[in-house]
Amino acid sequence: MEKISIVVPCYNEEAAAPLFYQAICPVFEKMPETKMELIFVNDGSRDKTLAVIKDLAAQDERVKYIHFSRNFGKEAAMYAGMSYASGEYVAIMDVDLQDPPELLPKMLYGIVEEGYDCVATRRVSRKGEPPIRSLFARMFYRMMHRISSTDIVDGARDYRLMTRQFVEEILRLGEYNRFSKGLFGWVGFETKWLEYENIERVAGETKWSFWKLLLYSIEGIVGFSTAPLAFSAFMGIFFCLLAFLAICFIVVRTMLHGDPVSGWPSMVCIIVFLGGIQLFCMGILGEYLAKTYLETKHRPIFICKETNIEPAEKEHA
Ligand code: UDP
Ligand code: MG
Repeated sequence: MEKISIVVPCYNEEAAAPLFYQAICPVFEKMPETKMELIFVNDGSRDKTLAVIKDLAAQDERVKYIHFSRNFGKEAAMYAGMSYASGEYVAIMDVDLQDPPELLPKMLYGIVEEGYDCVATRRVSRKGEPPIRSLFARMFYRMMHRISSTDIVDGARDYRLMTRQFVEEILRLGEYNRFSKGLFGWVGFETKWLEYENIERVAGETKWSFWKLLLYSIEGIVGFSTAPLAFSAFMGIFFCLLAFLAICFIVVRTMLHGDPVSGWPSMVCIIVFLGGIQLFCMGILGEYLAKTYLETKHRPIFICKETNIEPAEKEHA
């Protein structure tokens, strides 16, 4: 009997977790010929999420949990879930029901019957989201499309069903600075896209502030493109050329008209402007250096404090 492991990252989701469980059980009943495993990853929640999912695990043996020693972020939670999953197929689903569980049979069909390696989802609208957030998200995807050779799809969610082979390849990418939307594209394979309208979360509130999203987008840019480095080099060349032309102009002008002392304000403007550009380029360089530094430490992506998954079940990890 085939088994699907569903990885569910949870951070302060005491309200949403039971609702999620109630919503997914009917879907399981519709798929009696498939064995199911629900892996809740408690990503260092500060509320009663752990107690809630332990309760569910006590009632239902399909429910598993991984409890982190602190908050490591959704990326780490997805990685942990995938590495503990034992199913032939692995799905990732948010606990807030923004990822409709009813799509699961359709996703399985895409893999088993249509031969895809992965069935992923993207939302075609962003209704219910602050307009400024949507605007920046659009800009981000447009820019990534230009500067990165990896396929990063606009509106793609982390909600997807993958084959064991696909998951193993994702797990081989053991980088510390993770940007899954890029990693999923990077490994390649055949991906089928299902589309749906944005759904608002069922309980609790979003864990992504604008600031967190901005940092996450920098993760994406630095992780999947070196274009900013080339950009700073071009900027350097451009200003060298400009300086050369300015020198020629000043020499000629001095020879023709002498050298009256003037131009202090324009000098200050030029110095401040170039100082700004230099700091900006150094910042870009620093960002790449910092990421390299973190990668070279080889710190674990997550630390599991407690789990009810037996080591034997974890044969694929
Ligand atoms: N999440 C997590 N760790 C975090 C932040 C979020 O595991 O540090 C989980 C969260 O519990 C939810 C999913 O990631 O299941 C998506 O988060 P959220 O719904 O807040 O993001 P949004 O849908 O607003 O982008
Ligand atoms: Mg959500």
